Amino acid sequence: MIELQNVSKYYFSLRALHNVSLAVKRGEVVGLLGPNGAGKTTLFKLIAGLLHPDSGNIRPTNGRWPTIGYKPDRLLFPNHLRITEYLAMIAGLANLPAEAQEKAVFDALVQVDLVSHANKRIGDCSKGMRQRLGLAQAMLGNPALLLLDEPSNGLDPNGQAEMQALIKKLHAAGKTILLSSHQLEEVTAVCTQLIILNNGQVHYQNSMVDALTISPHTLIQADRDLADIAHIIQAQHPEIQVQGNQIQLRGQAMPLRREILAILLQSQYDVLHVEQKHVTLAEIYARAVK
Ligand code: ATP
Repeated sequence: MIELQNVSKYYFSLRALHNVSLAVKRGEVVGLLGPNGAGKTTLFKLIAGLLHPDSGNIRPTNGRWPTIGYKPDRLLFPNHLRITEYLAMIAGLANLPAEAQEKAVFDALVQVDLVSHANKRIGDCSKGMRQRLGLAQAMLGNPALLLLDEPSNGLDPNGQAEMQALIKKLHAAGKTILLSSHQLEEVTAVCTQLIILNNGQVHYQNSMVDALTISPHTLIQADRDLADIAHIIQAQHPEIQVQGNQIQLRGQAMPLRREILAILLQSQYDVLHVEQKHVTLAEIYARAVK
């Protein structure tokens, strides 16, 4: 849907983004992770057209720009307005045809579950309602691409769960979504693609499925230290490691699990635990930003 090629952005002498290349493909939910100051908001603003790159290209993949809805990280609303008044104003600013505005506002309210609060003054809204209002504003006019900068920021666990359900619903309805988050669980739950930024550069990019299934390993835990038979176990395959009472089997050594268990039992060890492990998003993140 959108491609960035070698995009760099400076704020005076500060390099916020450096040679960023990535693609947001149609129908994907792309999770953008990175520490504070990594450049996530800058990336959103560039894609939304609020900033321009100092070098590099941002272009639509098929030659036509998709319609874009943007929920900024910092939500500044006119607190004296009521929710519907505000959305009607935004629908007007978004150049929606006058006859379509009322329906667009109602549809957006339905999607973010704010219909029952439609007449509430924004100043009286909870953080969760304000986040949902930010999302409603981004969804006005049914844009194909949603840019959601920290949609769960400041929400309690219930609010976060609701936001995740909403993002999944939007994905199921065919939206393409780029979202940033500091919540690894949220990204794992809703995203199909993963990008990790650090210091303005892309440090990791993969599909979520591939990211979480690479480097699987098997962990076997015995009842006591394995030093006496470590050399026998390690001789079975170079990708077997023994440490204390634990044995780790990686890669091609994984199918040898039964043989290793047999050696343990024959040598009078008890097996306390056998676990098939996968890398977690927390481990991927820690490696990418270290
Ligand atoms: P956070 O997770 O804290 O929201 P971020 O990943 O969104 O951070 P950005 O807001 O894009 O990061 O900021 C990237 C860098 O650019 C930071 O060092 C920030 O201080 C700097 N920066 C952002 N906006 C401006 C600006 N308008 N003027 C000067 N520097 C800026």
